[in-house]
Amino acid sequence: MEQVVIIGTGCAGLTAAIYAARSNLSPLVLTGTMPGGLLTTTCIVENYPGFPDGIDGCELMTRMQKQAERFGARVQVLRVVEAADLSKSPFVLTVDGEKVETKTVIIATGASHRHLGVPGEQLLEKKGVTYCATCDGAFPMFRNQPLAVVGGGDSACEEALYLTRFSSQIHLIHRRDRLRASKIMSGRVLANPKIKPVWDAVVTEILDPKQDKVTAVRLKNVRSNAESVLPCAGVFVAVGHVPNTQLFQGVLDLDENGYIKPARGAATNIPGVFVGGDCADHIYRQAVTAAGSGCAAAIDAERYLAKL
Ligand code: NAP
Repeated sequence: MEQVVIIGTGCAGLTAAIYAARSNLSPLVLTGTMPGGLLTTTCIVENYPGFPDGIDGCELMTRMQKQAERFGARVQVLRVVEAADLSKSPFVLTVDGEKVETKTVIIATGASHRHLGVPGEQLLEKKGVTYCATCDGAFPMFRNQPLAVVGGGDSACEEALYLTRFSSQIHLIHRRDRLRASKIMSGRVLANPKIKPVWDAVVTEILDPKQDKVTAVRLKNVRSNAESVLPCAGVFVAVGHVPNTQLFQGVLDLDENGYIKPARGAATNIPGVFVGGDCADHIYRQAVTAAGSGCAAAIDAERYLAKL
């Protein structure tokens, strides 16, 4: 019987693991398919306190995992929770076919990249359509080629800036005429001569599945409805995220976009089940807020266990 099982190892999950481990709860920590979470797809994290020169996203997550393990967290890499029976205590998780019983669960499953949902996107994924410039931007097919980044948030800005290492023609396609990104990121993007904003435009199709590679995007101007075709060798989609909460639909209280609604603090509507990080946060979604909520989830779990 486990005391605490933590699902997910982004900032929230690993911070929860540090706190739970330091409370001698020896948490079982399951990474799922993306150890380290979305931050591992970021090159440099500049706003995590304590790192005045910034820190590589993978490095930050590796350090957090080591810190948790130092105090006794048991991190199991690439172990995926397939089902969660939270109907009664102890809870039963099915992990790669194996049943795991636990008194408490901390859900820190994070969020995944939102897709555009346009023709050509799925067919050309990994053939020029990507959701991570840091992971794929250096591929030879993108070098010195015109590239498109879709989105207007911090992620899109970060992707566009990163891609200037490989190409001098980055088209930043945004559905409005103002970026959503923070002032510092917007300023960097708009001042960069290699990045050309394409305002008020949405991608309606990615071409050309017949050639089995990205050759262009079809655009529609949302004000004039005018259509155009923009040649590019790669499409980097950065249009936000969807929470990884499918496992808990119909079980936990979710909002209309699928985010888990905490009942009080980090508690959910099921006593003994706690939540932290992006799977419950559609507002702040920062590494540091995820870490903070992971800490809160572990403290709440510890106090719940103490009362049993
Ligand atoms: P985001 O802030 O939600 O931005 C998503 C962007 O995609 C928005 O500009 C949105 O347009 C656009 N969009 C959404 N759906 C679309 C669709 N179907 N078609 C076209 N465009 C669409 O997401 P994010 O940029 O991934 O950032 C997530 C969070 O992480 C934010 O809180 C951000 O501050 C944080 N973050 C921080 C950093 C950093 O500090 N360096 C880096 C990355 C992320 P609208 O603007 O019109 O809604």
